[in-house]
Amino acid sequence: MIGHASKKYILIDVVLPTERIEDAKHNLAETVSLIKTYGDGTIVKIIQRRAHPHPGTYIGTGKAAEIADIVKTNRIDTVIVNGLAKSTQLYNLLKIYWDVNPNIEVWDRVDLILHIFAKHAQTAEAKLQIELASLRHMGPRMYGLSEELGRQAGGIGTRGAGETNIELMKRHWRNQMKKTSDQLDKLSNDRQLQLERRRKQGFRTVSIVGYTNAGKTSLFNVLANKQKLTKDVLFATLDSVVGHLYFPDTNKQALITDTIGFIRQLPPSLIDAFKSTLMESINADLLLHVIDAADPRMYEKIQTVEHILSELKIENKPIIQVFNKIDVLSEQQIEELKKLKNESNVFISANENMGIEKLKKIILQSI
Ligand code: GDP
Ligand code: MG
Repeated sequence: MIGHASKKYILIDVVLPTERIEDAKHNLAETVSLIKTYGDGTIVKIIQRRAHPHPGTYIGTGKAAEIADIVKTNRIDTVIVNGLAKSTQLYNLLKIYWDVNPNIEVWDRVDLILHIFAKHAQTAEAKLQIELASLRHMGPRMYGLSEELGRQAGGIGTRGAGETNIELMKRHWRNQMKKTSDQLDKLSNDRQLQLERRRKQGFRTVSIVGYTNAGKTSLFNVLANKQKLTKDVLFATLDSVVGHLYFPDTNKQALITDTIGFIRQLPPSLIDAFKSTLMESINADLLLHVIDAADPRMYEKIQTVEHILSELKIENKPIIQVFNKIDVLSEQQIEELKKLKNESNVFISANENMGIEKLKKIILQSI
């Protein structure tokens, strides 16, 4: 991709004493995978064990200064903090690295996710959702920074010019928030009306949810006969897409939607911004929860998804658990899975077209 060609990143990770090594490794790997989703590049990892993130610079001040040398010698473009950072922490890091690279960017994990979303957004609605999420994410930072500048100005006993600028920024921010959410409301109302019309015409709605990379888009493509992009990256899908599901020999028909993937620690500001996309799930007659059965962290990811569904207050919808990727499991592993007593479990391989007819039958019975 032009403009993203081989960027250089530093990934800063602070590991707390309470964190298990294995979890920390997995967490780091997930963020590395997010960076690769964003674009090609090289990643230098800096890991520090600390009792808690440093209040001023996230990583220890000594380490933060050492990193400036790496930024300089390795010509780093972006420094990414693997976690949720405070405005002052990012601002202080930025000040340290500015000297060695005036174009340096300092992000936290939410910024990274927002940049990925921004890169993949295609529809007007998706673009507005990202804008709103970015604005929401910026809000507390701006207010934090304004307090900080206020304190500094207060110390000298003057009202600094910086403070006036921040006031202007705040007003602009509030206006933008209002404008964006109004536009978004209108779009999602239109979509709700459209769905409502289709429902009246006898269409049932089925929504595919699940952890990112579970195979949602692959299943969508099989069920709706489409060729959407499937990729071994996080969040390849951003815009929700609607397809048709036909049941020959019946007069039933359903609309099926593929949604964005969930991820551990999906920040609340993002869940909020994506609510209108996720509204389709909220309103669907049936949910298909696609699960990567070959993932060693399967149970954890099932829980993450169920947790997000309950936050969206849709945990009580009819839901089918679809265990995908059984093509790479052994007979014995499949037997183990089948012991999980639940009538609504289905075992499939979207890629190898296994179990799809059975799944369709169960969908038909459930709508
Ligand atoms: P999504 O993020 O949930 O939409 O996942 P995708 O549909 O984009 O698939 C993620 C990755 O899993 C891709 O590399 C797919 O080829 C792979 N995948 C999807 N279904 C299967 C399957 O049944 N078996 C195997 N082995 N891989 C699959
Ligand atoms: Mg997808």
